[in-house]
Amino acid sequence: MKDLRFADYFLFTQHSLSTFDNCPLKFRKRYLEGLKWDSFPDERVKKRLERGNNFHLLAHRYFMGVPTGLDQGTEEFGELNEWMECLEREFKKEPFVTYLPEYKLRMVTDPLKLEANFDLIAINEDRIEIWDWKTHGDMQGKNRAALSKRFETSLQTVVYMFVLKEQLPILIGSPIESEKICMCYWQPDRPHLLAKINYSDELHERFRQILEQKIRGVLEYDYAGFEKALFSKHCKYCEFNWFCNNDKVDFEAMEEDEDFLDTLDWDSIEEKY
Ligand code: SF4
Repeated sequence: MKDLRFADYFLFTQHSLSTFDNCPLKFRKRYLEGLKWDSFPDERVKKRLERGNNFHLLAHRYFMGVPTGLDQGTEEFGELNEWMECLEREFKKEPFVTYLPEYKLRMVTDPLKLEANFDLIAINEDRIEIWDWKTHGDMQGKNRAALSKRFETSLQTVVYMFVLKEQLPILIGSPIESEKICMCYWQPDRPHLLAKINYSDELHERFRQILEQKIRGVLEYDYAGFEKALFSKHCKYCEFNWFCNNDKVDFEAMEEDEDFLDTLDWDSIEEKY
C-alpha cells in the first residue's frame, strides 16, 4: 500500500471498484486526486441523467409517503408521470412492509471498508428485498438471459448484497438467513423486471472473496508501473481522455456500448448537476 492514510479513510463503492477495474489511472485521478472534468457529459446525456435523477427523487418521496411534487410544470412531465404511474401500480405500498428509500449502509472491517447506496430496501416479515431502478435506457429488447447474467455478476450486486447481509444486525437488530434476501433490478421505461438475484451463504462467501481480492488489488497497486495500453479500450468513454490522449469523449460510442453503460459511474456524474 503506497498511501496508508488512503487505506484508513476510503470507503469503496461499486462505482469506485469498477472504475479501478476499467483503469487504475482513472481511479487515481477521480478518487485519490479528486479531479473532475467539467465538459462531461454532453447535453443529450446530461438530459437523460437528469430524467433518471428526477425519477429517483420522485420514487424516494413516494416510498417516504410524502407528496411527490410532480405536476404539469415539471420538466419532462409526460415521461416522468408515466414512469411514476408504472411505479405506483407495480409497487403498491403495504402497511406491513418497512420501506427504506435512498438508504446508505456502510461497513468497516479490514480490508472491507464498503459503502452501498440503495434505491430501496423493503423489509417484509419474512424477507428483505433490495430494489434498484435502472433509468438509463430501455433494456427490454435485450437478450434476457445475458442481461440477467450481467446483473448477477455485476459489482453492484456483489457490493449491495454483501453489505446488506453484513449489516443486518444494525438494520433490523438480528441476522436472517441469506435465502431470505434478494436483489431486483427494475426499469420504469416500459416497466420490466430486469433481473432477480436470490442470495445464499455460498454467494455471500464468494462475494467476500471477490471484494477482498479487489480491494487488496487497489491498495497494493503500483501506479509507477501503470501501462495505458492495457486499459486504452476505455479511453474514448473516459472523462480524462483529453488529459491522457488529447482527444474528446466519444458520447455516441458511449451510448451504443451496453456493457459500458452498465458500469458507467452515473452517480459520480450526477453529483455535478
Ligand atoms: S483516458 Fe484512458 S488511460 Fe486516461 S484515465 Fe481514462 S481510461 Fe485511463
